[in-house]
Amino acid sequence: MPTSATAQPDDREHEGALRPKSFQDFVGQAKVREQLELMITAARQRDRACDHVLLVGPPGLGKTTLAGIIAAEMGVQLRVTSGPALQHAGDVAALLSSLSAKEVLFIDEIHRLARPVEESLYLAMEDFRLDVVVGKGPGATAIPLEVAPFTLIGATTRSGLLPSPLRDRFGHTVQLDFYEVQDLAHIVNRSARLMKVQIDEEAKATIATRSRGTPRIANRLIRRVRDFSEVKGFVAVNQEAVDAALTLFEVDELGLDKLDREVLKAICNKFQGGPVGLNTLALAVGEEPETIESVCEPFLVRAGMLTRTPRGRVATHLAFSHIGVATLEF
Ligand code: ADP
Repeated sequence: MPTSATAQPDDREHEGALRPKSFQDFVGQAKVREQLELMITAARQRDRACDHVLLVGPPGLGKTTLAGIIAAEMGVQLRVTSGPALQHAGDVAALLSSLSAKEVLFIDEIHRLARPVEESLYLAMEDFRLDVVVGKGPGATAIPLEVAPFTLIGATTRSGLLPSPLRDRFGHTVQLDFYEVQDLAHIVNRSARLMKVQIDEEAKATIATRSRGTPRIANRLIRRVRDFSEVKGFVAVNQEAVDAALTLFEVDELGLDKLDREVLKAICNKFQGGPVGLNTLALAVGEEPETIESVCEPFLVRAGMLTRTPRGRVATHLAFSHIGVATLEF
C-alpha cells in the first residue's frame, strides 16, 4: 500500500473516472469554489481569459481537479504539464505559442521550474508576450513573440519555494486545506456509487475518518477495502471488513500511515521528542526531505502531533501518546 497522498500508478488509472468535472460535484472547500466561480463568471462576462491562479496545498486535495473544472467552466481545453518537464525557455515558448485564446495551461509542481523558464513566464503572464532569444553572448537578440491571452494555473505543495516575482503574477492564490470528515463522507459516498461498491453507512463513515483529510486517500481506501471484501467473501463492505482491511494496510484509527508513524517514532524515540532538523529526520526514516515536508508534516501538524520550530521539528504530547511512548521531559 502506498504510504503517501502522492498519486501512485494505481491512483492515476482510477482517478479519471472519479474526478469531479464541475463545481457541483466538487465537494467541500466552499469558499474556494465561490471565489473561483466568481472569477470565471466575471471573465466570461467580459469575454476574457480567466486571471492566473496559483493552487497551493498538500497532494491529493484537488489541485488538478480544480484546474480541470476551471477549464471546463471556461469552455476551453486544459493543457497539462509540470515543472520538471519544462527545463528550457524554448520548451515554454513552444508550449505557449501553441495555445489558443482563453486556454488553460496547468503547470503541476510549479516550484520545480528551471530558473530561465520561470523568467520567460513572467512576461508571458503579464503581457502575453515572450522574448525568444536567438544566438549567444553579446550578439544575442531577443525576438518578441505574441502569445494568445491564456490562463496559467500553477499547483504547488510548497509555495515558499516560489520566487516572489512569479507568485505576484498570479491574480489569485488558493490555499487548499485538509477536508472535514463530513466532506470526506460525501466523497466516499460519491466514489462508492460511481465504483458500484456496496458499502454500508458505518463503513463509509469509518473510511472518511481514516482518510487523512485527503480525497485521494479516501478513494484509495475504498479500492483496498473493496479488494479485501471481494477476496475474503464479504457480500457487502461492512465495518468488520473496513477494520480488517485497514489493519492489513497499516492505516491507523487516526488515518496515519506507516510513514507518518515512522516520522513520529523517529522524533520521539531517536531524538527524544526533538527539535530535530528536517534532513536528519529524513535520513532517520530513509525518505526524501521533500516528501517528509510536503506529504507527512502538513497532516501531522494539523493533527496536533508535530510542531515546526526554528530549531527543528518537535513532537507533541499527542504524538507520544499516539505511538505509545511515555512522554519525555517537556
Ligand atoms: P492534487 O492535484 O491536489 O494532487 P487531485 O486533483 O489529483 O489532487 O485529486 C485527487 C483525487 O481526489 C481526484 O481524482 C478526485 O477523484 C478526488 N478529489 C479531489 N478533490 C475532490 C473534491 N473536492 N471532491 C471530490 N473528489 C475530489
